[in-house]
Amino acid sequence: MEKLKPLKIGETEIPVLRCGVLVIGSGVAALSACTAADTVIATEELDGGASCAAGLDRQPYHHLSVADKEGDSAWKMAETLWAGGAVHGDLALVEALGSLEAFYHLASIGVPFPLDELGAPFGEGTELDPRQRTSFLEPRDSRLVWERLLSDVRARGIPILEGRHAIALVADKPRMTEKPSALNQKPSYSRGRVYGALFIDEKAMEQANFGLELILADAVVYGTGGPGGLYGASAYPENQAGAIGLAIEIGAACANLTETQFGLVSVPSSCHIAGSYQQAIPRYFSRGPDGDEEEFLTPLFESPQARDSSVFRRGYHGRFDARNALEGGSSLVDLFVHRERVLRGRRVFMDFRHNPSGWNPAVLGEEARGQLERLDALGGMPIDRLRKLEPLVDEQLARLGIDLEREPLEIAVCALHSNGGLAADTWWESVNIEGLFPVGEVNGSHGICPPAGATLNASQVGGLRAARRIACRSAGNHAPKTAQAGDLQKVAQGAALSAAQTAAQAAAQVVDAAQVACEEALRIILTALGPGEKPARDDGSLQAFQAEFHARMANSGGMIRAAEGAREAARRAMQQVSSFHLVRIGGRVHIPALFQARQLALAHAAYLEAIAGFVEAKGGSRGSALTVDMDGKSLHPALDDVWKVIEEKTSLRDFIQIVRFTDGVFRSDWEQRRPIP
Ligand SMILES: Cc1cc2nc3c(=O)[nH]c(=O)nc-3n(C[C@H](O)[C@H](O)[C@H](O)COP(=O)(O)OP(=O)(O)OC[C@H]3O[C@@H](n4cnc5c(N)ncnc54)[C@H](O)[C@@H]3O)c2cc1C
Repeated sequence: MEKLKPLKIGETEIPVLRCGVLVIGSGVAALSACTAADTVIATEELDGGASCAAGLDRQPYHHLSVADKEGDSAWKMAETLWAGGAVHGDLALVEALGSLEAFYHLASIGVPFPLDELGAPFGEGTELDPRQRTSFLEPRDSRLVWERLLSDVRARGIPILEGRHAIALVADKPRMTEKPSALNQKPSYSRGRVYGALFIDEKAMEQANFGLELILADAVVYGTGGPGGLYGASAYPENQAGAIGLAIEIGAACANLTETQFGLVSVPSSCHIAGSYQQAIPRYFSRGPDGDEEEFLTPLFESPQARDSSVFRRGYHGRFDARNALEGGSSLVDLFVHRERVLRGRRVFMDFRHNPSGWNPAVLGEEARGQLERLDALGGMPIDRLRKLEPLVDEQLARLGIDLEREPLEIAVCALHSNGGLAADTWWESVNIEGLFPVGEVNGSHGICPPAGATLNASQVGGLRAARRIACRSAGNHAPKTAQAGDLQKVAQGAALSAAQTAAQAAAQVVDAAQVACEEALRIILTALGPGEKPARDDGSLQAFQAEFHARMANSGGMIRAAEGAREAARRAMQQVSSFHLVRIGGRVHIPALFQARQLALAHAAYLEAIAGFVEAKGGSRGSALTVDMDGKSLHPALDDVWKVIEEKTSLRDFIQIVRFTDGVFRSDWEQRRPIP
């Protein structure tokens, strides 16, 4: 990393750093991409991402099975990934081929994946992949993946700049080069190029330059995680807002933005509640505004046994599954919880201190009874069953400050994970912005229904692939087919040498793009600090601005999406984006939040544009979301007509929906997915 001459915008001097590879974010994906010598990490908060939020459930890692006597292969694993729908075949194959390298890399740096005496991973089958390809870590170990990667990065002396909020990507944006001449024709676009990013250094916000800092680089690894900030309630850690909007702003193409996953989350600690917590069969009840309590699930099932078996089976699914709900399966539990909270205005709880009314383990469904019997967990209260199912439960809960002996656990349906994100190629480079490498959750490679642990594998494979691509390109080798893991260090040193030359050549273009980004940032800050036009909103506050897009996402971008009104929601989202200049802040301390709200507003418009396009293509209900329409199919007699759903148009699984923001306008197109090579 070197310090360059500051950039002057009027009287304001903005410090400029440059490096070979700028890694933005410090989650598991970003850290896995830090192999080149001249790499710098700049992150909002070192342990702020979803990677560090240890959930209540065991953490899966999906990889090729080496201990399958029947013989697993990368092609078979790619077929499983492909089967989830809306996944490119070559990406699925690359993820499968790279999974062992990534798995053993993590094991070699100390991640305690369980292995048997002979060294075979204890692979298990899961809901979407019955082959034994999934290794589980105990819940308390989930943070270890991140900790081990961080120690490895630190041991290699890679500089980490903390408290850096990326507020803009410095880039030449792609342009539309040819307009479509007919309705069904697609336009042509030029490619963009990223040169670095503009940050706010939170420790320097009181300086004359408001803490602005420019970091230029040959390549930008973008590991900013999922868009937790789009939702008022989610399983993302509170400070994990994500930053996909910055990439959308420079025109980076997005894939599958409709595919957000939803599920049951504990309200106090934002923990995803699945697995053993459902299989312990707690008593579900809701509480009204007057404090009255109701076991709302009971009248919705044929019998208490049917109710309890369904709650048990809900434990097999990490998330709400539209297909399962359409078949009358256990995902209906999520719908009933949602209805209770949203339509009936009641809070929902899982009570582990009492059995549900009518509890009779002798007549439980075969599957639930068999499993609980094997663990000697049929008797007692739900908390007793939970302790048998999850021996470490007390330790986990104490860490999260939850006491199930004292009080019930409040829950809600919340956003868990974004399978969609930025569209990238098989080297994890953006399909239309050269030098931008989205890795981890911000990369939209995960399709509709990835098996458990597949996204973590993709984050590791993607990080390693991006690092390899960057190293080979910088060393002048544009066909990195021959680079092996062992060569990487050598190639990476070459990257550092060639970095300065590349910068010199592109200097004029880079300075132009940097100047535009800095001028725009200063204009935004000065406007928001006011005095200026009278704010049009209630109080002109940032909170009101955020509340508006949170509400729109909850109404139109959540688990239930009304077909009617989807286009209108997208239109209103764009109106909100254009009203940003009216937002005022009460001091410099709010500058990072100001820029965050700005990019999230654009991101919410992109997500809603995708949903509107999907509804217009009659995509129906799939993944983790239902499209409701009065002409649809009834899911359950207790759910009235507003809950009628449109069934999935399965032919769309063979397409990836691409959304682009070019010249101030969104456009969505469907791209046929590539087959498995
Ligand atoms: C062991 C384990 C198993 C998992 N298994 C599954 C699974 O089976 N299925 C599943 O769906 N998910 C799973 N996950 C979910 C997983 O939590 C996320 O998908 C993954 O951790 C995201 O990692 P990431 O590196 O992409 O982002 P994150 O960990 O969220 O990190 C994002 C980083 O970007 C930084 N950042 C954000 N915005 C900015 C900005 N503007 N400027 C600077 N920095 C910024 C944040 O501070 C943070 O450091 C698992 C996670 C773990 C750790």
